[in-house]
Amino acid sequence: MQISETINSTRLFNRILELGEIGRSEEGGVTRRALSAEDKKGHDLVIGWMKEIGMAVRYDHFGNLIGRKEGKQADLSPVVVGSHIDSVRDGGRFDGVIGVLGGLEIAQVLQEEEFDHDRPFEVIAFCEEEGSRFNDGLFGSRGIIGKITALDLNRQDEQSISRYEALRDFSDEIDPEKINESVLGVNDIHAYLEMHIEQGPSLEKEELAVGVVTHIAGPHWMTVTVSGEAGHAGTVPMNLRKDPIPAVAEIILYIENLCTDPLHAETVGTVGIVETYPGGSNIIPEKVTFSLDLRDIDLSRREKLFEEIQLKIEEVSKERGLKWEINEGMRVPPVSCTPRLTKKLQNSMEALGLQPHTMISGAGHDAMLVAEIAEMGMLFVRCRKGISHQREEWADQDDIAQGTKVLLDTVKELLNEK
Ligand SMILES: [Zn+2]
Repeated sequence: MQISETINSTRLFNRILELGEIGRSEEGGVTRRALSAEDKKGHDLVIGWMKEIGMAVRYDHFGNLIGRKEGKQADLSPVVVGSHIDSVRDGGRFDGVIGVLGGLEIAQVLQEEEFDHDRPFEVIAFCEEEGSRFNDGLFGSRGIIGKITALDLNRQDEQSISRYEALRDFSDEIDPEKINESVLGVNDIHAYLEMHIEQGPSLEKEELAVGVVTHIAGPHWMTVTVSGEAGHAGTVPMNLRKDPIPAVAEIILYIENLCTDPLHAETVGTVGIVETYPGGSNIIPEKVTFSLDLRDIDLSRREKLFEEIQLKIEEVSKERGLKWEINEGMRVPPVSCTPRLTKKLQNSMEALGLQPHTMISGAGHDAMLVAEIAEMGMLFVRCRKGISHQREEWADQDDIAQGTKVLLDTVKELLNEK
């Protein structure tokens, strides 16, 4: 195995900070919403770097930015490294960015070393991963696997500008009429790799710079409503109440217990919103709604837990003479990373003297969509306190460099595969 010592970690980190200045407020938060003027400035900066390295730069019709370094055989499918450079409102400088600029650093090292490779190497910055403008993320990666419809293109931002218009106006190369030409098939990408900050506290806790992702958890979203009878807090006796609040409290505690059970390790359940109607300190509520986000890397376990939660909701509601309803939202299956790529990344880590630590991803990434058409591998880099999507988001220069080295060695092997 070839060990790379040639990553220029200062160059890489300086680029991350320079891109992080675009759309950055005085307080330090970064706002580069997809297809906005700030996003355009960010793209232009990255395009400049890609050209400096000698990459051919293009946009596809989903607004994905792609830099390409040719190998000896242009007809072979490329090895692709990517992520995104759009941000949430008032977000950080590392989420997505380290994956794209890490890929750029790899292209530059390949160039400087005059590394001999057959397959082309591509770096991709996917359009609107965060969904912070059209409220609907993973746009570019859903696009290339053929999952974008007219509905997605017609979505409007708060200024009533449609995504269709925003795409058309972003670059002369993008024509939303021609999105079908940019849909890829199962032979179009040899392998896809993504490096991302962990967005969680595990690596920091383990005192590790990087970890290899084996599975990306799939979320199941729902809204639960439990209804009873509204009443005056002072005049309705306790034994005559049909109060949904204690029922919901019981259900939420049940969900916590269920997901905390070691038998269901890796399942996580989160109630992020609880609303009471009509909502007053002296009113017994008529109904309570709460959100539930249930995630797991094991689909059958997630489905089983969902069934148990449904039964509990039914049981508690019946006991208390209440009505209940579940409105289902997103229901996405978990995704496994390609074992052979996970293994390759682990081998590269060992060769670099790193512990070949594996972990799961609780958050969704472009990689889980690309996995539908290509082999996919993913690497996490430690981030401070697990904080992301905030101005305090931070990853160390050395940790990003370690991740990029792991990626470089794996990319080198893949580039000369048949
Ligand atoms: Zn991200």
